[in-house]
Amino acid sequence: MLSKSCRHAYWLTAFGRILAITAVALTTSWAAAGAPAGETWLDPYREPASRIIGGALASTLAWDRLAELTDSFGPRLSGSPQLENAILWALDSMKKDGLENVHAEKVMVPHWVRGAESAEVIRPVSRPLVMLGLGGSIGTDEEGIEAETLVVRNFDELEAAGERVRGRIVVYNVPYVSYGRTVEYRASGASRAARLGASAVLLRSVGLAGLRTPHTGALSYAERDPKIPAAAISLEDAEMLQRCQDRGQVAVVRLRMGAHFLEDAESANVVGELRGREKPDEVVVLSGHLDSWDVGAGAVDDGGGCLVTWTALKVLKDLSLRPRRTIRVVLFTNEENGLRGGLAYRDAHKNELANHVMMLESDSGAFRPLGFGLSANDRARTTVREIAGLLDAIGASKIEPDGGGADISPSVRAGRIPSLSLEVDGSRYFLYHHTPADTVDKLNPMDMALGVAAVGVMSYVIADMPVRLGHDAGR
Ligand SMILES: [Zn+2]
Repeated sequence: MLSKSCRHAYWLTAFGRILAITAVALTTSWAAAGAPAGETWLDPYREPASRIIGGALASTLAWDRLAELTDSFGPRLSGSPQLENAILWALDSMKKDGLENVHAEKVMVPHWVRGAESAEVIRPVSRPLVMLGLGGSIGTDEEGIEAETLVVRNFDELEAAGERVRGRIVVYNVPYVSYGRTVEYRASGASRAARLGASAVLLRSVGLAGLRTPHTGALSYAERDPKIPAAAISLEDAEMLQRCQDRGQVAVVRLRMGAHFLEDAESANVVGELRGREKPDEVVVLSGHLDSWDVGAGAVDDGGGCLVTWTALKVLKDLSLRPRRTIRVVLFTNEENGLRGGLAYRDAHKNELANHVMMLESDSGAFRPLGFGLSANDRARTTVREIAGLLDAIGASKIEPDGGGADISPSVRAGRIPSLSLEVDGSRYFLYHHTPADTVDKLNPMDMALGVAAVGVMSYVIADMPVRLGHDAGR
């Protein structure tokens, strides 16, 4: 077994070799083609791009700091002291990094507390269920809710059950298809069951098949329906309840939840910048969200996104690469259960949104980067594709049709701003998403360093190029 630092060193050396070989190959092919430097608008960026990639891959700072963040503060739900302490740490660390205009922008956030919670099968045999209350759920009284279960595989089965729903604990045993499609049951399942008289809801977790792991996440109650408690259970337990029902066995469950809301709490978006040398009022935003659910450690979602974007700015600063325009890192608060950070940024900067050249969010896990998603006009798309060519050597040059992120979306919509997301190998993302297993060991230091390189190159060129992204190319 290699020690962690040896392992890092091994990877860094291996990647260093690949890069050196690639750099030689690139230089050779340019020379062979006889292309003089400066032939295209992109040529002046080849040298800084390779310095940025080299700088990013020279350290595992992003992963090391993510480990420090998640080990020191743990999960960071809105309203928790852990989140506020993490915010203070980020401000302090950004100042130590020498970033400019480092400050907090106040945001009032919802303060939901999980409280003590449990679920157990009473019949056919007494056994505990592994569960997590859904964010925003109401609680039960101390005795809890004890009722027969009614298992459904989709909303059609729920509606077809009609009067049989009344008084029951509805179990949504919905197979995971994709997050976008399956999450509807987490969001509106409680209200739809309550409308038919259900007493509570248990939801098969929205995520990939894990090891009897519940995934939390927010629900939203419809105004017109009664509010009932709702919790996520594991795939295994949902299937067990389904089998009981299918063979005609009565299953009774008792659910106890101490969930409740406290008064809104004060939180903040964290901001740090590298001020532009010629057009400081024009801004490129890089972002992630610092808050997380209250289980696991919020490493994959989304401490990693924060550290990748923030470290990219530090790399530019350390290389003394000051672009024409300002690059601003924003670590948003309250993405998970309110989006108040994203909304507050839009409102606080509304007069400045017209000067936002591009906004990028990294919130798909800091896994190995593949490229970027982009939402913008065709002119911007062509430019971003060209810039992405500088990332061929590290395998991060793919440009997908849609980009953006939840936190930046209010500003992007209001200011019609080109938006990017860091695209990664997300094959394992929904295995860890919103679970107790969302911890830093799920991410790889070199993958994160590659993410830093990709974000660093893309944001530097966009912030520095003579013509504003998406505008007429007289370049
Ligand atoms: Zn997230």
